[in-house]
Parts: sequence; structure tokens; C-alpha cells
Amino acid sequence: MTKVLPQLINGEWSESRSREWIDVTDPATQHVLARAPKATPEEIEAAIASAKNAFLSWREVPISERARLMLRYQHLLKEHHDELAEILARETGKTLADAKGDVWRGIEVVEHAANVASLMMGETMENVAREIDTASWMQPLGVCVGITPFNFPAMIPLWMFPLAIACGNTFILKPSEQDPLTPNRLAELFIEAGAPAGVLQVLHGAREQVDALLTHPDIRAISFVGSVPVGQHVYRTGTAHLKRVQAFAGAKNHMVIMPDAHKDQVLSNLIGASCGAAGQRCMAISTAVFVGDSRAWIDELASQMAELRPGHWQDPQAAYGPLISPQAKQRVLHLIAAGKAEGAECLVDGSHCTVAGYPDGNWLGPTLFRGVTPTMSLYREEIFGPVLICLEVETLEQAIALVNNNPYGNGTSLFTRSGGAARQFQHAVEVGQVGINVPIPVPLPFFSFTGWKGSFYGDLHAYGKQAVRFYSETKTVTSRWFDDAPVSGPNMTIQLK
Ligand code: NAD
Repeated sequence: MTKVLPQLINGEWSESRSREWIDVTDPATQHVLARAPKATPEEIEAAIASAKNAFLSWREVPISERARLMLRYQHLLKEHHDELAEILARETGKTLADAKGDVWRGIEVVEHAANVASLMMGETMENVAREIDTASWMQPLGVCVGITPFNFPAMIPLWMFPLAIACGNTFILKPSEQDPLTPNRLAELFIEAGAPAGVLQVLHGAREQVDALLTHPDIRAISFVGSVPVGQHVYRTGTAHLKRVQAFAGAKNHMVIMPDAHKDQVLSNLIGASCGAAGQRCMAISTAVFVGDSRAWIDELASQMAELRPGHWQDPQAAYGPLISPQAKQRVLHLIAAGKAEGAECLVDGSHCTVAGYPDGNWLGPTLFRGVTPTMSLYREEIFGPVLICLEVETLEQAIALVNNNPYGNGTSLFTRSGGAARQFQHAVEVGQVGINVPIPVPLPFFSFTGWKGSFYGDLHAYGKQAVRFYSETKTVTSRWFDDAPVSGPNMTIQLK
């Protein structure tokens, strides 16, 4: 019997009454692992009503108790770390080591959420006018929603609901329909940690379910992570319905390589950052920009990349796993074919990749192109596969101009031994997350995840202090206490006296 995924509504796990279901498949075999419902309109209403009701009491729970829930949750997540990683590896195809990393990066955000008391402190000032004091408080918003992508089914839900809930909000999670087993398990553990009924709800589904949440009058804020077209749709629709929205979208991340860089470090970091997780990371390096003589390393890069082997998540030798779906693989194959047709030189071609024992997996071998120009589809589109494209320029200034002309701005890195070049790059580059000799500069949760330009719609980013601002409202209280001095008459001006 295929497992039927329940939804979490008002503290109860229950089977949906939906007539529409989505198969969740193992990307290495196409076996159906579970069926997820498309939540019905009644279930969506019930979840929102429950979250709205739970907010009334949850917002009154002392902040230290809310922080303790996060501590208990963090402890449980650590206890179940390996189990969660196995669930995640099975439904995404990620190698076990990478799946563990996905869970771990999420646990770090829960640790951060346990610091909510210091993060939510307001500001105070006495004597802003004679005997008048002002204090600012940060108060929760109400019902918040998270819509998450397939590529980090532990980390990205954990970017969202722990902090939102620690701030005193209630939350509805709509995970990716492609790998919803991990988020369901995360939510079970959250209930086990002691979350009261209604504080977290989990609804399953796709476009229609997202649209119902984006337009519902009782939702205050939407956190979204996913592709560019959907991110734009979520941002436009959510803000048109007067909600606070943060939408993290696609990317095209460049690594710029200076001729003075450490060659072996460059090659190994390029390979890991482009092909790790089969290139299905929003911070993957998909574009290498070789400056001057560093272009001489491209042939060695090709021979090292050709050695990489994808494989099943249980194979400890596998460098990475399959793509998430046959459709995702087809999309990347089309882009590889377009690259060849448009005149790029394919040095390593992973189009015809097989893995023994798994004839139906969505495998793609590592693929490397050189001679790519900015007008080619390979450069213009986010590929989201184990494909690295190489461009060549003469100077650092030209490399910076290339990166800045790209519409995306999620991540970029520079490999060099020159402090001057690093300073110039980090200052001038128009990208929100910059690595200096660090290929994938994802900040830890005490900072924020700060993608720019076409990679992000909104202003306050994920996790860190910015997320606490996103999930809260600021109230300023200005107060005065009277003594028995005689009243000098009404103050007819705007000035505080
Ligand atoms: P996706 O946009 O297809 O799906 C994301 C979510 O949106 C899912 O929950 C899905 O059910 C929902 N959705 C899909 N189509 C919709 C529609 N038409 N209307 C409303 N909702 C819809 O993204 P994906 O393929 O799951 O994830 C990969 C993408 O996410 C890549 O583009 C990647 O760069 C991006 N991503 C970005 C970041 C970041 O921080 N910038 C992080 C991870 C992933």
C-alpha cells in the first residue's frame, strides 16, 4: 500500500478528503514513495481558522517559553538527524552526506531561533521630551505562510517556521509537492517538542493551494523560496493582497578565478560547487569566469570533472544523486543541446549517463562547456543541473562588469591571493552574498540570507535579525506620568512639551 501523507490541521494529523493527489517518487527508481493530497478549499479554510485562533493565545506565551520550545525542538532534531537525512535522501536522491548537511543547516536556524528574546528586544529612550519616554516593542504579526521548493526540504522549511513561531506568530507550511515527506517529519517532531495545537499547520498541494493562501485576507505574511516565475507571481499576488512578502528566487552564480589563485583549490572548489547536489542548489556555482592566464586550467578542470560519478544515495562513493524528476532532467538536456547548437564547446558531456542497477533514475553526468558567451541560452537560463559553463575575460574589471550585468544576484565568489583584488571585487560586485576563496558563501543564521536583484523580491531577508523584523511589527509607546503641578493650558502645537 502506498503511504498516504496526512496534513496537520489544528494539531491533528488527518487524511485529506481531496480527490486530487500527487505521487511522490524516488528519483533514482521512479517508485512511488507516497501520495500527497492537494488540500481542499475546506481544509485550507480550517487550517487558516485554526492558525488565527491559536495566534490569540500563542502571542501571549512568554518569550522565554517560546524559546524553550525551540530548545526542545533543536534537541529532538539532533536526536533524529540521521533518520531525517535518510527520509530526505530517499525522496530527493541526495547522497546521505549531503542530506545530513541539509538537515544540519536547518538545525542551525532552530538554534538561532532559541535566541529570540535578545533578537526581539526593542529600543528605549528616556527624556525624549521633558519627562516623556519612548519605547519600541516588537510584536508578532499573526498568521504567516511558508511556500518551499524541492531542493532543500529540511533546511528551507526550517529557515521559516521556527523563527516565525518563536516571534509569536502562527504558521502554515506548504512544502514542495516533490518531496513533502521530510517536512511532514519535521512537523511531527515540532509537535513532539510541545508546540500547542494550531501553532503550526501543514497543508499539501501545488499552484491552486498556494494561490488560495496568497489571496486569503487572514494571512499577514508570506515567505516563498522557488523559481523566478513563481517567485514573481507570489510577490505580485501577495503584495496586491496587501501582505508582507519575501520571495527568494533563481540564480546564476559566478566564480571569478584570478591567475594568482591556488589552482588545485580552484579546481576542487569549482567541481564541488557546480556538481554537488547535482547542481540543484540556488547557490551552486554554474558559471566560471577565468581571468587572463587562469584559462589554461580549463583542460585540467575537464579531466577532473569527467571522473565524477553520480550514484544512489546509499552508495558512499557517489559524488551526487539524480535530478529530482524526469522533467527536470529533460529541461537540462534541452539546455545542453541548445548550448552545442549555439556554438559552445562541450568538453565533458553528461547527457548519456547511466548508473548500474538504477536504469530509471534521472541521472546526468557532469557537463562542462567552454566558449560560452552571455547571449547563449546556457548563460541566460538557470540550468539547475550538474553543468558548469566557462567564460573567459582579460581583467578583473571585465569579470566584475560581466557579473553585474547578469540579472541575478544570489551569490558569487572570487578566488585569488591578492587582498587588493578581493577588496575591489567585494566592494564593486552587485551580488548579495560574496565569497572570497569560499565558493558557496551561504551565511550562518546569525546573519541573513541576502540575495539581490532578480534572485530576491522584497526587502527583509531570510533568518537572522532581518527575518525577526520580517515576522514582527514595531510598536512605539510614548509615555508621560503626571505630577500635581498646575496645568498650563492646552498644547495647540505638534511639539512634545
Ligand atoms: P518552484 O518555483 O517550482 O516551486 C516552489 C514552490 O512553489 C513549491 O511549493 C510549489 O508547489 C509552488 N509552486 C509551483 N508552481 C506554482 C505556481 N504556478 N503558483 C504558485 N505556486 C507554485 O521551485 P522548485 O523547482 O521547487 O525549486 C527550485 C528553484 O528554487 C530554483 O529556481 C532555485 O534557484 C530556487 N531556489 C532559490 C533559493 C534562494 O534562496 N534564492 C533557494 C532554494 C531554491
